[in-house]
Amino acid sequence: MSKKILILGANGFIGSSLSWAILKNTDWEVYAFDMSDKKLAHCLKNERFHFFEGDVNIHKEWIEYHIKKCDVVIPLIAIATPTLYVQDPIRVFNLDFESNLDIVKKCVKYGRRIIFPSTSEVYGMCQDKAFDEYESNLTLGPVPKERWIYSCIKQLIDRVIWGYGNHEGLDFTLFRPFNFIGPKLDDIKNRKEGSSRVMTQFLHNIINDKPIKLVDGGLQKRSFTFIDDAMKCMLKIIENKDNCASGRIFNIGNPYMEFSIKELAEMLIEEISKYKGYENIAKTVKIETVSSEEYYGKAYQDVAFRVPSIKEAEERLGWKPQTDLRTAIRLTLDYHLLGKDYELEQ
Ligand code: UDP
Repeated sequence: MSKKILILGANGFIGSSLSWAILKNTDWEVYAFDMSDKKLAHCLKNERFHFFEGDVNIHKEWIEYHIKKCDVVIPLIAIATPTLYVQDPIRVFNLDFESNLDIVKKCVKYGRRIIFPSTSEVYGMCQDKAFDEYESNLTLGPVPKERWIYSCIKQLIDRVIWGYGNHEGLDFTLFRPFNFIGPKLDDIKNRKEGSSRVMTQFLHNIINDKPIKLVDGGLQKRSFTFIDDAMKCMLKIIENKDNCASGRIFNIGNPYMEFSIKELAEMLIEEISKYKGYENIAKTVKIETVSSEEYYGKAYQDVAFRVPSIKEAEERLGWKPQTDLRTAIRLTLDYHLLGKDYELEQ
């Protein structure tokens, strides 16, 4: 039977990619909600896509009605940019915690399935070689390091959802994205320093002749995950064959794509120089080192590495990421520099 999927925050990076992946690969209906539809042009043409432009704190009745009406609820409305954790932690709390808790409670009330975005940030400064959903400790810094508010909020919501699942029958899945990258991650135009995720920030700086800034030298590592791989995993979670995803937590990441931020910068420069107009970029681009305090302020604390264990997703969902970093960079550059949309061309 065709499922009805409610996606709150459908215009974001994950929301827009997921909406398109659903329309392309399934016969499900998508009820989409966001403040803007800028990234949804191709979805809007599909008759299974129903978009409503609204604000999560104002259009509560629309949301409640659609929670009742749909089979699966995916609340993606959140601030997920490290600079803002430090600059405006209360806004992060109001949106990421309070607004989302309301939605979780409505899913409990109406007996709806919820697929909720946790975050790889919940593991914080955990020292495990690969972070395990059920075994790894979630290790956060002190309160004045305000950057941890996001991680802490997500961790509490994870625990609330888990509690509703275990004690009040909520059908849930938590997923933890590990540095998803790809075409629609942030807007690369008019980005203020620190306002977007690392890959988009670097791209913006290169294109606008600004120096690339390596925070603390860029030796910290991340596992980058191409959005297409991640969405394949999401589809399996939504499909929930034989309840394989119910009551579970899944890291969605690519343990085979662990690179330092410096290596990411180098690869990006190498790849960009293959595009017309950017042939000399390797010689002209400036790379600077800045301290994290200078870049983000005193309330920041970095994570040195973060590698997911994806055993749970491999075993329960039969999923494995396929795309290497160079290909992910190339597809992202094709989108920004050549206006190619790989999703539409496949
Ligand atoms: N970073 C950097 N230069 C920038 C932006 C980010 O060196 O212009 C670093 C940042 O300090 C962090 C890493 O890149 O260690 C990844 O940052 P991002 O904002 O993408 O997300 P995070 O993985 O920290 O959630």
